[in-house]
Amino acid sequence: MAKNLEPKCKQCRRLGEKLFLKGDRCETTKCGITKRNYPPGAQGPKSKYTKPSGYAIQLAEKQKAKKQYNILEKQFKLTFNKGKKLPGDSGENLLRILEMRFDNVIFRAGFAKSKPQARANANHYHYLINGNKVNIPSCQVKKGDIIELTPRSKKSKLYKTLQESLKKITAPGWLNVDSEKLSIKVLHNPTNEDLSVIKINTQIIVEFYSR
Ligand code: SF4
Repeated sequence: MAKNLEPKCKQCRRLGEKLFLKGDRCETTKCGITKRNYPPGAQGPKSKYTKPSGYAIQLAEKQKAKKQYNILEKQFKLTFNKGKKLPGDSGENLLRILEMRFDNVIFRAGFAKSKPQARANANHYHYLINGNKVNIPSCQVKKGDIIELTPRSKKSKLYKTLQESLKKITAPGWLNVDSEKLSIKVLHNPTNEDLSVIKINTQIIVEFYSR
């Protein structure tokens, strides 16, 4: 499976924005953008962020969304096309589908510290959806689904402090997190209000793909 191996901080610097790609480590480590507030490249500190063209703005917004959901171009485009076929606003549909990815739900509920970690844990059979083992990070969850750790994973070192850390996390309103049972219930699809807190301008992405 293809992977983006570019260092996370470099990806943020390229787009000139903090994307918090290292999850909660972004709060603790010294941020790459703070340390080197210039685009990556051979010119080093001499290179500057230039005023972007209309196309560059659209491209950057699309790249930002891809990186924040930790997916590559092909899958992102497929997701966009899927959202376009659904009734309603294509941009909101895109965001809703991305939010309802299995790995994203794990991250939003606080079961992983970053999206890459959520993806890896989903891949390694750490979770059950409605009692069935699922290892496809991109699979879509739906209303009423219950996601929980496998009995084996509950005992693993990886989740030793999870109960405590879940108490400090506020999950989005469309998810119900049970910190005792270590489970997540999908209450409903993310509403427009739920989506409005995500800092991605989907309108610009729709414009990019409509060129
Ligand atoms: Fe981006 Fe800063 Fe996090 Fe690095 S530490 S991934 S630059 S937000």
